[in-house]
Amino acid sequence: ALTYNDAQRLFDDIDRQFQLSQETLVELSKAFLHEFSVGLGDYNHPMAMIPTFVTGVPNGTETGTFLALDLGGTNMRVCEVVLNGDKTFSLRQQKYKVSDALKTGEATVLFDYLADSVDAFLTTHAASAYTSPGQAAVDNNPDVVHLGLTFSFPVEQTALDSGKILTWTKGFAAKNAIGNDVVKLLQDAFDRKHMHVKCVALVNDTVGALLSRAYTSGGCILGAIFGTGTNGAYVEEVAKITKLKNSSAAARGGHMVVNTEWGAFNNSRSHLPCTPFDNSLDRLSINPSYQAFEKLISGMYLGEITRNILVSLIDAAPKALLFGGKATAILNKHYGVDSSVMSDVEAAWEGKDASEAADPDSIPTFTAFDDSKLLPAVKSKLERIRLVIVKQFGYKDTEVTLRDAAIVRWACSLVARRAALLSGVAVAVVLLQTGRADLPDKSGKHAKRTETEEIGVGVDGSLIEHYPNFERTTRESLRALVGPDVEKRVVIGMAKDGSGVGAALCALQALKQH
Ligand code: ADP
Repeated sequence: ALTYNDAQRLFDDIDRQFQLSQETLVELSKAFLHEFSVGLGDYNHPMAMIPTFVTGVPNGTETGTFLALDLGGTNMRVCEVVLNGDKTFSLRQQKYKVSDALKTGEATVLFDYLADSVDAFLTTHAASAYTSPGQAAVDNNPDVVHLGLTFSFPVEQTALDSGKILTWTKGFAAKNAIGNDVVKLLQDAFDRKHMHVKCVALVNDTVGALLSRAYTSGGCILGAIFGTGTNGAYVEEVAKITKLKNSSAAARGGHMVVNTEWGAFNNSRSHLPCTPFDNSLDRLSINPSYQAFEKLISGMYLGEITRNILVSLIDAAPKALLFGGKATAILNKHYGVDSSVMSDVEAAWEGKDASEAADPDSIPTFTAFDDSKLLPAVKSKLERIRLVIVKQFGYKDTEVTLRDAAIVRWACSLVARRAALLSGVAVAVVLLQTGRADLPDKSGKHAKRTETEEIGVGVDGSLIEHYPNFERTTRESLRALVGPDVEKRVVIGMAKDGSGVGAALCALQALKQH
């Protein structure tokens, strides 16, 4: 029979597998930096380090009215962005559904639909000034409305306003698109309809986050997404993007924004601390061995890793360790647990006000759990979690104990904490790469640095925006890697409406660069 000690060892063993020591974080950072340099030197590397041809970031004084089109998920968005030149903007937007038929049909039909949507937006939703094309245009080209396209699929960008579609992802499979220039596909559709709209810039969502945060805060060096997936774009010296070789961009020098595609860090998984729960997720995913880093971090996967842990405890033999050995349809379903449920569980533990914060260590070990010995505050927290579980996993009220609730909270925080610590590694690596920080020496100490200015980081995505303590934990590993002095200067802020505002700023930059 499974003894108390055996059971506790099982919990402890899972716990141990999710811990990351400072030493591991440092090793990961070194491997990450190495992949950065490989990607900057050569094309066709998983960490793609894509040059974006965006050669500067805004400072908040930019002005103009632009259209932005955002394609990358279930919905397509058209927006009109007015940059006021004082770090503020106004934005009107309309979402349009993209049907499966459009996603998988002929590319020209899809792009005609995008053009029709822009046309519909201009006539019904845009500011009245916009119905007369001349008034919305920037001064040097009075007859045309300028548009920035946020296109969140892999693209090999060759200029600010051109890039070849490499593959479709996220359920898109439109025919005769791969290998073609996405800006040309869109522009041809506008031209077929004789619309006075010109697509002048192609932007990745991470670049949008970087530019929009730079605009609203006055400066930013990194834009990062922690949502369905994870990725980051940062400002690099052109001289270090050695794969640009003898191009005119290389000759011009200066700086350029690089889209890292860091979700693909360490696809060989030689350094990433994968557990059996992660291995199972990867094996059963639609892209085994790809996006290894993303699979430990992003919203699409955290629920599934947690589900794998919970199911293993339900299945533990000879004695079940969770929910009396009973699963539900939701827990049995591949991707049945959404990361927002983990968020709800942790929020129920945190409580609304900080005075309620309770030390997780005040929970007795799972194998010696006794409801009657719980502190009243802890008991009410666990009861709140228990209700979340009953509702979200589809149990009957009598099927979930406070002990089950404590175990589920523990599993959620293990998975999310590791994700946030790894997110901090990605941020630290950008600071290391750009000479703003140094790794600790062998004794764990950091060299003294004399700079004092703020280091701006713009972020977007549900995880960093909503998951309790995600950002705080991200800072924990950042601090371990770059030292408290540098970490304190890092200002992490949401890049609100990043894809719309970023596309507008990029369109503005395209006009300036011409
Ligand atoms: P996207 O990255 O697609 O632009 P989001 O940033 O909203 O969009 O990310 C969506 C992902 O975030 C989904 O995987 C979803 O499970 C997860 N998610 C949504 N809400 C929350 C939440 N409150 N806490 C944690 N994860 C969430």
